[in-house]
Amino acid sequence: NCPFGAITDISMVEKVKKALADPQKFVVVQTAPAVRVALGEEFGLEPGTNVKGKMFASLRKLGFDKVYDTEFTADLTIMEEGTELIHRIFAHAGVPGYEKEGPLPQFTSCCPAWIKYAEDKYPKILPHLSSAKSPQQMFGAVAKTYAAEKLGINPADMFVVSVMPCTAKKFECQREEMIASGFQDVDAVITTRELAQMIKEAGIDFRSLSNEEQADRLIGTSTGAATIFGVTGGVMEAALRTAYEILSGQSLGVVEFKAVRGRKPVREATVNIPVKELGKTVPLNVCIVTGLSHVDGVVEDVLAGRSKYHFIEVMNCPGGCINGGGQPIRRDTY
Ligand code: SF4
Repeated sequence: NCPFGAITDISMVEKVKKALADPQKFVVVQTAPAVRVALGEEFGLEPGTNVKGKMFASLRKLGFDKVYDTEFTADLTIMEEGTELIHRIFAHAGVPGYEKEGPLPQFTSCCPAWIKYAEDKYPKILPHLSSAKSPQQMFGAVAKTYAAEKLGINPADMFVVSVMPCTAKKFECQREEMIASGFQDVDAVITTRELAQMIKEAGIDFRSLSNEEQADRLIGTSTGAATIFGVTGGVMEAALRTAYEILSGQSLGVVEFKAVRGRKPVREATVNIPVKELGKTVPLNVCIVTGLSHVDGVVEDVLAGRSKYHFIEVMNCPGGCINGGGQPIRRDTY
C-alpha cells in the first residue's frame, strides 16, 4: 500500500517476548482505539465486537507490568492539534502575537504513512503539517517521563510496547526524532494480528476472559473523542470540537460532511465558528482524505494557492486505522 517503504512489516514480537522475560525490564503496553473492535475477529467473534476488557485481561496474563490505553494520548493529540489550529487561524486573521504560527490549511500529522509520503513527494507542504506527535509517540514520551517518575521506575529500565492496527507505526517508532524522553520513546510495536498470535501461543482462552477489566489508571483515562480516532474523519472532528469550544465557549453540534470529487475518499464540510477574540463568525472549511491515492489533488491545490480549506485530515488506509495493515485480514471491499 505504501510506495515509499513507510510500511515495513518487520516483526518485533521476539523483542517483546525477550523484554517480558527479562526481570530487569518494567514492560508497559498501550493499545490503540482500533484494536479493541478488531481483535475479537481472530477468536471467531463478530467483526466490531468490543473486546476491550478481554484485551486488557489477556495483556496482563501475557505478563505486562502496566496495561494502558492510547486513548489518553489521543486526547493530548486532540488538544495540541486543536490549539495549534486556533493559533494558525489567529495568525491568518492578523491577530498580534501570532505572527510566527504556521500557515493554513493545517494538515493532521498522526498517520506515519501520510507523513512519509509528504516528506518524500511534497517537502514544500511540510510547514502545513501539524507539529503534534501521533498518540502512539506522545504515549511513549509520557510513559518514560511522567509515568516512570510516578511509578519510581528508571526510564532506562522501562520498555514500552504499542499494540497498533498499523504496520507503519513500526517505522514511526524507530524514527530518529522519537526520543523526547531521552530514550527511544516506544521500543516495539506489535499489530492486532500479532497480539492475537501471542495470546494463542500462550494458551490463553481469550473468549472466556472477563470483558470488564479496565486499563491501569495513571495514563488510562480518556474521553469519547479519543475513541473516534480509529475511523476516518475522527481526528479532524475531535480537534475541531476542541477548537470550536475554546473559540466560541459553546459545544459543536453534528458536523455534516458532503461527498466531493466522486464518492467517499475526499469529503468536506464548513463549520461556522463564532470567534470571541475576532468579534465575528469565521467559516472554517475542513476536508478529510482517506486513501493516499486521493491526496495529490488536495495537496497540489494547497501548493498552488487555490485551496479553500483551513484544516485537512489525511489517513493512508481507506476508512482510517480501523482498516490498517495490521488488522485481521478480511475480504470485504471498502
Ligand atoms: Fe496506520 Fe493506516 Fe492508521 Fe495511517 S491510516 S496510522 S497507515 S493504520
